[in-house]
Amino acid sequence: RTVYVNGEYLPETEAKISIFDRGFLMADGVYEVTSVIGGKLVDFEGHSARLQRSLNELDMANPVTMDELLAIHRALIEKNQLDEGGIYLQITRGAPADRDFAFPDPDETPSSLVLFTQVKNLVNALAAQKGIKVISIDDLRWTRRDIKTVQLLYPSMGKMMAAKAGADDAWMVEDGKVTEGTSNNAYIVKGGKIITRKLSNDILAGITRAAVLRLAKEAQMVVEERSFSIEEAQEADEAFVTSATTFVFPVVEIDGKAIGSGEVGSVASRLREIYIEESLKTAL
Ligand code: PLP
Repeated sequence: RTVYVNGEYLPETEAKISIFDRGFLMADGVYEVTSVIGGKLVDFEGHSARLQRSLNELDMANPVTMDELLAIHRALIEKNQLDEGGIYLQITRGAPADRDFAFPDPDETPSSLVLFTQVKNLVNALAAQKGIKVISIDDLRWTRRDIKTVQLLYPSMGKMMAAKAGADDAWMVEDGKVTEGTSNNAYIVKGGKIITRKLSNDILAGITRAAVLRLAKEAQMVVEERSFSIEEAQEADEAFVTSATTFVFPVVEIDGKAIGSGEVGSVASRLREIYIEESLKTAL
């Protein structure tokens, strides 16, 4: 693969970052994953707007303009002949002269920017046909989950707990209510209503979530933004998750209990279909 590091396009084996980079030492960084279908970027504007918000919340400088960022994404698609998959982007607070808890002066320590491509089956993902199984775990993350930081140790542990339990993912629970999946937003469907937690610092404002809710409303579906418990989810007609790399994946089992018929639900399937159709039309 050809990757991008701080202004250069290099073979992945030659790309280097300092051991003093605060991303490496302190998880002091933010990221985005933008999916690519048919060689085009899905919702690039949404991802770049959220990136800027994450940077602002952490007082971190963006080393490039949004136009440059789009050009870098496109150059990587071109150089790697990427048809379907994603582009991972990370900005970290750079490499000051020494390790220190205080943020370095941004004029002396520029942020580091890294991007690379990942090949993945998105449109014909197996999980979309089979559905996924989730377990519930306590949400033990920090409480600024609205910022997309690279502190991903707890979500990684959640994925491992799920795998150990024979499941695919974990839904995290705080104060008796589901926050979100380890790397996706969580939904249930009851009596035709689509229910998902409202936005706050408790969850990440998914770019896919915004698109799916908009499309659902345009298709005259009813959306209710409120919290729900695992027990309510287990009694729902359907459940599903959304993210840039899954689009919409049906959830067919929660903590060992089948959801609805235990098969992929019609609302989740329909939302997946309209989301993909719209993305193919609007990708740039
Ligand atoms: N919630 C969390 C914790 C995530 O990590 C992600 C994506 O990585 C999402 C939600 C979904 O966000 P998006 O739809 O922008 O990919």
